[in-house]
Amino acid sequence: MNLDALVSNTKQHLGHGIDVASDLLVDHALGCEVIMTNGQSYLDLTSGIGVTSTGHCHPKIVQAVQDQVAKMSHAQINLFYNRPLLTLIQRLRRYTGSLDTFCFNNSGSEAVESAIKLARQATNRPNVIVFYGGHHGRTMGAMALSAPTNIYNAALGSHMPGVYYVDFPDTVHCAARDTPGHSAEHCIQNVMHQLDTLFKQRSQSNDIAAVLIEPVLGEGGYLAAPPGFFQCLRAVCDAHGILLIADEVQTGFGRTGRMFAMEHWGVEPDILVMAKGIASGYPLSAIASRKALMDTLPPGSMGGTYAGNIISCSAAVATLNVFEQERLLNNVQARSVQLLRRLHADLPGVLPPMIQVDIRGLGLMIGLEFIHAPLGFAQRITQYSRDRHRLLLLTASVYETLRLIPPLVIDAASMDAAVDRLVAAVRDVVQ
Ligand code: PMP
Repeated sequence: MNLDALVSNTKQHLGHGIDVASDLLVDHALGCEVIMTNGQSYLDLTSGIGVTSTGHCHPKIVQAVQDQVAKMSHAQINLFYNRPLLTLIQRLRRYTGSLDTFCFNNSGSEAVESAIKLARQATNRPNVIVFYGGHHGRTMGAMALSAPTNIYNAALGSHMPGVYYVDFPDTVHCAARDTPGHSAEHCIQNVMHQLDTLFKQRSQSNDIAAVLIEPVLGEGGYLAAPPGFFQCLRAVCDAHGILLIADEVQTGFGRTGRMFAMEHWGVEPDILVMAKGIASGYPLSAIASRKALMDTLPPGSMGGTYAGNIISCSAAVATLNVFEQERLLNNVQARSVQLLRRLHADLPGVLPPMIQVDIRGLGLMIGLEFIHAPLGFAQRITQYSRDRHRLLLLTASVYETLRLIPPLVIDAASMDAAVDRLVAAVRDVVQ
């Protein structure tokens, strides 16, 4: 069967629940380029949704994985210790402060659920506070913790009980944003007030196990919490014995210019959830917490058949080697400055006067919201960039927002090429 026929004859047998953006058939990938079976090469500003931070097929990751595959593919975490897993724990400890104890899973959703299990066990409290706009995954528990109008949060009957929502401190869409004198401080106060009301009217604070939050909303539109917010949230949690869980599945591993985004606010969570960038594309996720909290879990209550897979752990150790040896965080900061400068200089000029662009985010987690744009505008830009300019982009699931999440190894020339192609695609769409 030729390759076009392979796609057209088979795609209807892939369940609709998995949404595929194009009919492209991928063959291989290297660095920031993804190459299709027809030989065409695409510049990748998606990193496989924030995963391949070290670029596709980084030689050090490939070598580590090949070496490990030849030795053992499945060590099973419940049977014995293995060197990649223990080395990974040692290496992660350099970045996780007092959160020195780890549990492993395969995906972000599972790790989120592990974090909730830990919080409930450690506090002996049932309820959880989450934020509108949040996305924590597609499994039943993670879905129940995600924003209620999120496309992933389907009406599948009853969800996990005891989940309460408050507003994310969104300084961009805040209703009072254009009121004179309004500031990020008001936005923070609004959230604090909602928490206070929640404790008085909906769930006593001593029934709340945890507050679960993404430091920068991912699917919810690449909105970073304002300066000072996490200090206030930490204080509320401490005052009420509530655990603070940072979902750094998308923001972690250098994406925002720091190893973990919470470092921007100088606040340590009680539980840190990580996945995506941890292992350059090999399935792995983890939670980190203090030993005293982790030790409340009954032995055997966490993990799973593939948890902490030995190949994924080898890839994760190699990923951290690349981070350190190639000073990836420095590259993130330099490329972020370059990207923002170019976007501010080149993008507004190609938009018609009624459409404004809000350029936001941290590091190489940059969102572009097209304000007053027609419905589907951002989606059309991704189509034009892909089909006419060979640039891969993603939208967020709310607003008319594009997500720019290149591999963290991207160089200056590729970044310039990416912005040139993006601007050309926007020009095509508005014409
Ligand atoms: N949390 C966040 C912040 C995410 O962005 C995602 C995935 N987009 C998840 C959790 C779920 O991760 P996974 O898809 O690996 O289950």
